[in-house]
Amino acid sequence: VELTAGQQQVVNHPDGALILTGGAGTGKTTALVHRYLRLSAEHGAARVLVLCRSRAAAARFLDQVLPRLGGGFESLPITTAWGLAFDRLQRTGADPRLLGHAEQRAVVGRMLEREASRADLWPTLDGYVGQPAFADEVAAAVGDLQAELADPVQVQTAADAAATGDRWRELLAFAQRYRAELDEHGWVDGAGLLARASELGVDADAARYAAALVDDHDAAGTAAARITEQLLAAGLPAVVAGDPDADLDGRLATANPDAPTVHLDRGFRRPQAPVLVRVAHPSLEPEAVAGALLDAHGRGVPWGDMAVLTRSGARAQGIGRALVRHGVPVARPPAPVADAPAVRALQDVLDLAQGDVPAGARLAHSPVAEVIAPDALADELAALGPITDPVALAHHAFQRGLAHLVHPPEHPMVAADERALDAVVAWLGALERGADAGSEPDPWVADPSGPDRVTVSSIDAAAGRDWRVVVVAGCLEGELPRVRTGRRFFDRALLTAVSGPAPAVPERRARSLAEERRRFATAVSRARDLTVCTAAPEPGVLLSRFVAAFSTREPTFAPPPPLPPPSPPPTKGVAPVFPDGVLVLSASQLDVYSDCPLRYAYRYGAEARDEGSVYADLGTMVHDVLERFLDPEAQEPRTAERLFEIADECWRDDIAPFRPQLEEARRDYIDMLGLWWQKEGALGDLGPDVLDTERAFDIAVGPHRVRGRIDRVDRADDGEGIRVVDYKTGRRMVRVEDMDDDLQLATYHLAASLDPDMAAWGPPTQLRLLYLRRMEAREQAVRPDHAAVTQARILATADEIVAESFEPSVDADCDHCDFHRLCPLWPEGREVGEE
Ligand code: SF4
Repeated sequence: VELTAGQQQVVNHPDGALILTGGAGTGKTTALVHRYLRLSAEHGAARVLVLCRSRAAAARFLDQVLPRLGGGFESLPITTAWGLAFDRLQRTGADPRLLGHAEQRAVVGRMLEREASRADLWPTLDGYVGQPAFADEVAAAVGDLQAELADPVQVQTAADAAATGDRWRELLAFAQRYRAELDEHGWVDGAGLLARASELGVDADAARYAAALVDDHDAAGTAAARITEQLLAAGLPAVVAGDPDADLDGRLATANPDAPTVHLDRGFRRPQAPVLVRVAHPSLEPEAVAGALLDAHGRGVPWGDMAVLTRSGARAQGIGRALVRHGVPVARPPAPVADAPAVRALQDVLDLAQGDVPAGARLAHSPVAEVIAPDALADELAALGPITDPVALAHHAFQRGLAHLVHPPEHPMVAADERALDAVVAWLGALERGADAGSEPDPWVADPSGPDRVTVSSIDAAAGRDWRVVVVAGCLEGELPRVRTGRRFFDRALLTAVSGPAPAVPERRARSLAEERRRFATAVSRARDLTVCTAAPEPGVLLSRFVAAFSTREPTFAPPPPLPPPSPPPTKGVAPVFPDGVLVLSASQLDVYSDCPLRYAYRYGAEARDEGSVYADLGTMVHDVLERFLDPEAQEPRTAERLFEIADECWRDDIAPFRPQLEEARRDYIDMLGLWWQKEGALGDLGPDVLDTERAFDIAVGPHRVRGRIDRVDRADDGEGIRVVDYKTGRRMVRVEDMDDDLQLATYHLAASLDPDMAAWGPPTQLRLLYLRRMEAREQAVRPDHAAVTQARILATADEIVAESFEPSVDADCDHCDFHRLCPLWPEGREVGEE
C-alpha cells in the first residue's frame, strides 16, 4: 500500500499525542495499522494498545496486522474500551461477570417486581412499578446514568429545575440499590464496567503499554471517551482518530491541549454518485433490492463485497427473506450470543455440573428452570461428564433444558424464541468449531459472516466497514430520517445539560435531524463503487429528504424466484371451478384468500385436505371450553374449578402422536385457560358482559352468501353497542398497523350489522382479536363507512375467486400453510427436474 503524505506523517509521528481526523474512506485506519506495525517493531506488539469501536472492528484490525507480525507474543491488546475496562478491573483482583443488555434488563425487572408494593421506595411512581414498560425505562435510564458518568447531585438539580425532581429522586435512589445488587452478586453491566474502570484510573495501563492507538473515537460515549482521555492525560503516546465533525481537538483539549492534528482529506473511495431506485409498492422493495444485487453480481461484484443497510430490523428481515428466495447468499447479523439468557443458562448448567454453586442460584430465574429442575439436570450432566466430551454435554444440556425453543414447522416461533434459538445455535456452533480446532472456544466473539455473502445490517453496525456496492433501503421520511422530539419518561437531556435548562422541542428536533443526517452520511459513504438507495413511498408517506436530489433509476426486478409460478391447470371454458359464479364463503375463507390466493385454491377450490396440526386441535379445544363456560344460557357457576372441569372434559389425548408433544400441548392448554381466568374470568361481574358465544351468522353479500361463527359477542365498553371478540390461540400476532385491513374482523362487523338478532343488541362498536397466550387484545377501529367498505372488499374478493385468480403471494403467512410441496415459491414445490 502506498501511503499518502498525511498517512505517512501519522506513521512517522514521534512519541507524543496526535489527533487524526478524516472523513469516511480517507484511510485513517490504514494509517493506524502502519503506525501499529512501526511501533510494534520498536516496543513489541504486546506493548501497543489499540482501542477499536467494537469487537468486530478489533477483529478486522487484528486480521490486518497479524500476518505482518513476527510472533513472540501470547496475546495482543487490540481490543475495545470495554475490553480494556474489564482488564483494569481484573487486575484489581475483581472477577466480575459481565451482564448483557437482556440480563441487565432482567435484573432491573426482578428488582422492580420485588419493589412493586414498596410505596416507601417509590412514593410517586409506585403505580408504574411492576409494569414491563416502566422496567424498560428504568433499565435504560440506570444504564445511561453510568454511561454519561452523571453526577447524581447535578442531575437532581437539573431535574428539580425541569419540575421532574420527584421521579429522578426515586430513580437515583434505585440506581444505588441496583449497583448494590450487582456488587452483591459480583456482576457488572456494560455501562457500569466503563464507569468503574474510569474510576480506577489509568496508572497500571500507563506502565503496561508503550503507546496507544484509538480508532473511531467520535463513536465513543462519555464513559468510553473518559478512558481515552485518561490515557492521554497520563502521557501515554496516543494517536486518536475520528471524524472531522466530531470536534476531537475540543473534546481532548483538557486531556492534552498540545496534541497536534493531522487531517486526511484525500478519499480513497471514488464511488459514483448515489442513485435512487423508486418502487411503486412497499411489497416490491425487497424484490428491487434483490434485483440491484443480482445486477451487480452479474457485472462481477462478489457477494461478499455487497451490503444492504437498513434503519429498521423488520425491513432487514423482509429483505433477507427476499434475497434467500432469489438464491442470494446472505450473512445475517450475528446472533447476540453473549446477551442471550438462553446461552447463559446453558453455561450455568455446565458450571453447576462442575460444582459452581452460585450458578444454581442464577439458573433459578433462567429459561431452563421453566422446563426442568436445574439441579437434576446438573446431576445428570455430572454423571455423563467423565464419559462424554464437552460439546456433546452442551448439546445434551440443550436437548434436556431448552429443546422447547424448537417449534414444529406448522407452529411459528415467537420472536423471542427465535432470537434465543439463534443464539444457542451460534454458541453450540462456536463450541464445535473450537473443539474441531483444538482450541478454547470463544463464544463471545460474533460469528464471522462468511467469505462470500451479502451483508444485511443496520446502518449503525456498518460504521467502519466498506463494500463495493451498498444498497440503503427504506429511504422514507419517518424512517430515514426518523426525527425524535419527545422526551422519554426519564429525560436523558438532563444528563448532558446539567449546567443549563433541558433543550426545548425545536432544539431537540434540530439535534435529532443532525444525528439522522450523520447516520445517512455514514450509510452512503460505505460504498467504494456505488450506493443504491431504495424507497417505496405509499400514499401519504414522503420520500426521504436525503435522497430527493439523487438521480433516479428504474428498478431492475430479479426474475421471479426461482421459477415462474406455474399457472393452475387451465379450467376456463372447460370446467370452471365455480360454474354458477355464486360463492358460499366464510370469514376465514376470505381471510385465507386475502393472505394467499393459491392456498385458498388448494384448500377450498380443490378441497385438498391440509395435514391438520396439534396446534389447530388445541385451538379448537380452547374455543370449545370458553364457549361452554361463558354460554349465557348455562346455569352454572363461573368458577375456576368449573372452568378446569370443562377443560378436562374437552381434553383429548389423541391430538398429538408423541408424548412430549402431548405434554407440551397440555401445558399450553392449561396455561392459556389459566391466564384467561386470571385476566378475564376471575373478574366476575366486572369482567366482560357476554351476550353470546359461537354466534352463527349467514348474510347475503351481492349474489354470494357469507357464513360463519363469531367466538364471542360482548356488551361494548360504551354500554350501548356490542363488541365482537375473536379468540386467537397462535403465537403470531397481527401487527397493529395491519389491524384495519383484517378482513375477518371486518366481516364479523358486517355480519353483526346485518344480522337482525345481533343488530337488536346494538351497533357493533368494538372489534377485537384476543390473543389467549398473552391475553393481549388488538382492536380494529370502526369507521362510519365500515360496512360499505367491507361489502365492497368481499365482492371484489369474490370476483377474483370466480375469475380463478390463484397466484401464490410472496407475503403470505407460509408458516401456517401445509401446501409447500404444491407451491412454486418453495423449493420442495418446484417441478421435479427443474433447477
Ligand atoms: S406456501 Fe405460502 S405462497 Fe405457497 S400456497 Fe402456501 S401460503 Fe401460499
